[in-house]
Amino acid sequence: MSNNSNNGTMPVQEFEYKAEMKQLLDLIVHSLYTHPEIYLRELISNASDALSKVRFNALTDQDILDKEAELAIKISIDSKEMTFVIEDSGVGMTEEELIANLGTVAKSGTLSFMQSLKEQQKQLDGNLIGQFGVGFYSVFMVTEEVTVETRSARPDSQGYRWRSGGQGTYTIEKIDKAERGTTISFKLKEEHKEFAEEYRVEQIIKKYSNFVDFPIYLGEKQVNSITALWQRSKSELKDEEVNEFYKFIANDYNDPLDFLPISVEGMVTFKALLFLPKEAPPEMLYRQSELENRGPQLYVKKVLIQNECRDLLPEYLRFIAGVVDTEDLSLNVSREVVQSSPVMAKIRQILTTKILAWFETLAKEQPEKFKTFYKAFGPIIKIGLNTDFTNRDKLIELLRFESTRTEEGDYVTLREYSERMGEDQKEIYYHSGSSRSQLLAHPNLEYFQDMGIEVLLLSDPVDVFVIPSIHEFDKKPLKSIEKADIDFSKQKKEKKAEPLAENLLAPVLQLFRETLGEGIEDVIESHRLVNSPVTLVSGKDGLDSQMEKMMKMMQSTMPAAKRILEVNTSHPIIRNLAGMIMADANNPLIRTVMKQLYEGALFLEGGLDSTTAFLSRMNELIEAATLSR
Ligand code: ADP
Repeated sequence: MSNNSNNGTMPVQEFEYKAEMKQLLDLIVHSLYTHPEIYLRELISNASDALSKVRFNALTDQDILDKEAELAIKISIDSKEMTFVIEDSGVGMTEEELIANLGTVAKSGTLSFMQSLKEQQKQLDGNLIGQFGVGFYSVFMVTEEVTVETRSARPDSQGYRWRSGGQGTYTIEKIDKAERGTTISFKLKEEHKEFAEEYRVEQIIKKYSNFVDFPIYLGEKQVNSITALWQRSKSELKDEEVNEFYKFIANDYNDPLDFLPISVEGMVTFKALLFLPKEAPPEMLYRQSELENRGPQLYVKKVLIQNECRDLLPEYLRFIAGVVDTEDLSLNVSREVVQSSPVMAKIRQILTTKILAWFETLAKEQPEKFKTFYKAFGPIIKIGLNTDFTNRDKLIELLRFESTRTEEGDYVTLREYSERMGEDQKEIYYHSGSSRSQLLAHPNLEYFQDMGIEVLLLSDPVDVFVIPSIHEFDKKPLKSIEKADIDFSKQKKEKKAEPLAENLLAPVLQLFRETLGEGIEDVIESHRLVNSPVTLVSGKDGLDSQMEKMMKMMQSTMPAAKRILEVNTSHPIIRNLAGMIMADANNPLIRTVMKQLYEGALFLEGGLDSTTAFLSRMNELIEAATLSR
């Protein structure tokens, strides 16, 4: 430090940056930056911090300078002169504070961190630049020399001018400054003269600082029109305003379906305003990876940190849009730090709980809204069943299904199903397939329809991955109706026809087995069929047919698990077959009919790979049927 007195009364002191600081500045200015525009975000957020501190001090009754001054940020630019000035009425700085804040690196380890970035050829982006308290210096990206004039809000303070070319030294001198606060001014480098253009500066402010809680004036005009809606309580929020805000942040043309303001104080402090969109973007439903980089916006102390912050929510909730604003992270926290921060983990946990409670309330109080929501996002929510085990029970309660007792498009919950089950029904039955109409036409449903037992109809493709994993609900096992080991002992009294006697049935089953050979695990008598002659079911440990179809789609080499063919021995076709076998077991028509019945059952559940043989066999049978007339 040298002491150049100019006239003895107004000394200009020259200070030398520490060696470390010099290298740091050099790195920032010459090697690492990518987006020079973020200097403006850094300056505005510093100003905003300074204003928050004054506001706080005023609230806590401290004696402060200019108590009545407007809390605001003023920016003036001159495109001809290429000058930029930003002024705030914040806390300002004393001489000691100037030296401590703008003359040294705040945190140890900063330099080595920056150097390692350089070695890895990484770029210093907006999120990183200020992580270690060096945000202010980003201004040297756009200028050769900066002047900071400041006066602390302490009543006995004086004004100081700090000036530096960001090279190796800075100077401090005492000045006359009437008002408290800080004014930072500089001339832009030629290649950055855009930052003296009004439209450009306005654009940057809107992008990064639109919700700063203090007015930002550019010239005479206030640029940040939108106030921090999420800082308000629910009663202070107007639907119209909230909807506009949603459309702005979510880039949606539609109003949101619903919104949820959240305010949490305790282990962590944050406010949030979350939105349910009305519709899911189609790509979100088809590709789970679409969810990877989505999420609400993360603000720290009203300054935007990340536009789509994935770490705020678990994957299966990342379709939710909105803003989360916390006091508990540092303003310049980097993406990496956000990811591993315990604060974030806590916020995520609280948000998840609040969101699931929100869904539950919607379901109870606004069932129509919930239905719209569930139709749009049900498939995404279900991902959570296999990933969020803490909340699995809550998610299971949210599930909705069509069933044999609901109208198309209406839903039943597992709880409702369980509560209206017949007394001696022990299991919850489901049936999966590609559409409601296909499911309703399936022979496997006949017994249940006949007996008035409700069956859940699952036609969402993800169902086969999640529903079988819910082994039971309310102590009642969930069971696919295509399983072979279902108890069908209860039957309606009056039967259309008597089942075949054992001595007639055995040869039929035997010939079926011979005819279908290796393709099938077994052929057995059915107790579930009413109107159809045959059906396919899976063994006790076999995969559900729908599940198998999905697995095959993903992994084409997987061998198909063998199915069991069940035969309805009361059905005329089967009874006729028994008669034909008695007459002449070698009649080739018998085998043709058996193959056709089997492939027909396969066809019904979408498992027939080629229809060529099926159709030519059909013609053969038509020919036989028309021959005798
Ligand atoms: P950070 O803001 O991350 O701490 P900066 O390098 O941006 O790092 O700023 C260093 C310090 O300088 C700030 O912490 C603050 O104490 C002080 N400072 C910067 N700008 C202002 C301002 N406009 N008013 C008052 N103090 C300021």
